[in-house]
Amino acid sequence: MNEVKTPKKPFIFYYVIVLLVLMLLNFLVMPRMLQASIKEVDYGTFMDMIDDKNIGEVEVESNQIIFTDKDNTQIYKTGPMFDPGLTERLHDSGAVFASEIVEQASPIVSFLVSWVLPIAIFVGLGQWMYKRTMNKMGGDSMMFGMGKSNAKIYVKSSAGIRFSDVAGEDEAKESLTEIVNYLHDPKKYEEIGASMPKGILLVGPPGTGKTMLAKAVAGEANVPFFSISGSEFVEMFVGMGASKVRDLFKQAKEKAPCIVFIDEIDAIGEKRGGQYGGNDEREQTLNQLLTEMDGFEGNTGVIILAATNRPDSLDPALLRPGRFDRRVPVELPDLKGREEILKVHAKKVKVDSGVDFSVIARMASGASGAELANIVNEAALRAVRDGRKTVTQADLEESIEVVIAGYQKKNSILTDQEKKIVAYHEIGHALVAAKQTNSAPVQKITIIPRTSGALGYTMQVDEGNHYLMNKEEIENKIATLTGGRAAEEVVFGSITTGASNDIEQATKLARAMIMQYGMSDDFDMVALETITNQYLGGDASLACSADTQAEIDRQVVELVKRQHEKARKLLENNRKKLDELAEYLYKKETITGEEFMNILNAPEA
Ligand code: ADP
Ligand code: ZN
Repeated sequence: MNEVKTPKKPFIFYYVIVLLVLMLLNFLVMPRMLQASIKEVDYGTFMDMIDDKNIGEVEVESNQIIFTDKDNTQIYKTGPMFDPGLTERLHDSGAVFASEIVEQASPIVSFLVSWVLPIAIFVGLGQWMYKRTMNKMGGDSMMFGMGKSNAKIYVKSSAGIRFSDVAGEDEAKESLTEIVNYLHDPKKYEEIGASMPKGILLVGPPGTGKTMLAKAVAGEANVPFFSISGSEFVEMFVGMGASKVRDLFKQAKEKAPCIVFIDEIDAIGEKRGGQYGGNDEREQTLNQLLTEMDGFEGNTGVIILAATNRPDSLDPALLRPGRFDRRVPVELPDLKGREEILKVHAKKVKVDSGVDFSVIARMASGASGAELANIVNEAALRAVRDGRKTVTQADLEESIEVVIAGYQKKNSILTDQEKKIVAYHEIGHALVAAKQTNSAPVQKITIIPRTSGALGYTMQVDEGNHYLMNKEEIENKIATLTGGRAAEEVVFGSITTGASNDIEQATKLARAMIMQYGMSDDFDMVALETITNQYLGGDASLACSADTQAEIDRQVVELVKRQHEKARKLLENNRKKLDELAEYLYKKETITGEEFMNILNAPEA
């Protein structure tokens, strides 16, 4: 990693501060030390000393009298008294009237000490604190004034990451290949009069490889890679962010052709004039970014890549043609993508030859690239813990469960009865699923408690790529979710707290059916809510009246109730199999989907 940095400011500033501190010591502390050697005596002693003609020098002030003894060995001090004949008697005693026994600071020095020094110290302290914050934020400091920031920008050695390191994401790679081609041979594009998009926005959930893709573009094109995070622009002082942007583009233009990567661009690119009132600093930074993007011609060779997982919060001005006019979605990987990502990361560890990555990929449905990388690493850690030299299938399977549900709790804390209930609950889910689709519904069922709090869980089969779901499928899914609770009801006649997660998911699905997918009888194809933040969990805001809302709630309840009833019926009709399977699971604690189907399809005893 080569770091491009501007040279440090001269140290003169610090010399000045040191000098001032020395002066402070000289003129503030020294006199105090002198004063410490002054002996304070009562007026009587003073009078006695006059009578003994034992006064050397004397200085009478309105608030004190300072004097020395005859030999000038000690300075004394006493308070003034109404003593009309004092001057006469002092004169008679042979005392010398002095004006400055204790040296006082000259007016210039005292002015320096009382005015210039404190200000200098404050300025010094401010600079020091400012420098510290700047360093924390990854920037360099400037000594005086706000004119120019020396934004620290890394030019990472872009060699290393290539498109081949980014598994899956073929569409994104294809889109970015054009940029690489352009950086290799801009002439070809200029000849025909085509200009490259200035900015490309990589949009997708966290951990899907957006940063990797940006680095890979730089790596493939073999150009410098400037990387900065949007949050680094947001500074303590208004105007600093803007000057960082200016600086960044200045450096980039000098190094062109190059890639500038702005991670988390939503930190500065948020819609202006939002609900938070004015945020001058952020708006100025954004305005500067817009200005800079307009300022350079399409073919200067500076390509800006930016990443965000909140595209809908971006300011429209940022997205208009001529700025970030190309949007590359970087989605969660599908089954094939997951397998490829696992293989890429498995290259970094020693893997047993028998490992079947497609099974692992199937188990890890919904995982992002970053999570898959984590799964491989967890598996390697597990292998080391067990003292093995290679990573096995079991390591990978266990580490998926660790990532999904946490570690196994070693000491069983469930009572026998609880364990029985959990076994019936999990078999309830699986049996309802199996009876509805007549196919193997699960990969694995386990009732070993996990650190996440799950007492058991059923790992569903991922049927591969599945882009549409019909109404029946969603209803079946809701029925499956209610299957755990239904089994408890059918077998024990009582219910437990173990179904909270099922309830949450079933409700979510039922609401989505009515509000988003238009799958209710009454509301037809009317959107009842709008989704924002689709890559970060998806917050929904209602778009209907209170009356409609009440009706929706009623329908959601009815929908879930209907499926719950269906699940209960299914289990009642298959009570024998339910008992048999639950007992098997209770004994073995973990069973595979295959074992489950074998028992289910075996003729009844
Ligand atoms: P993002 O910027 O989208 O949040 P990153 O690019 O920082 O995600 O990815 C984080 C990590 O996840 C990477 O360092 C890499 O190990 C892994 N990763 C994510 N996507 C992929 C992928 N498609 N292929 C290989 N590794 C990936
Ligand atoms: Zn459940």
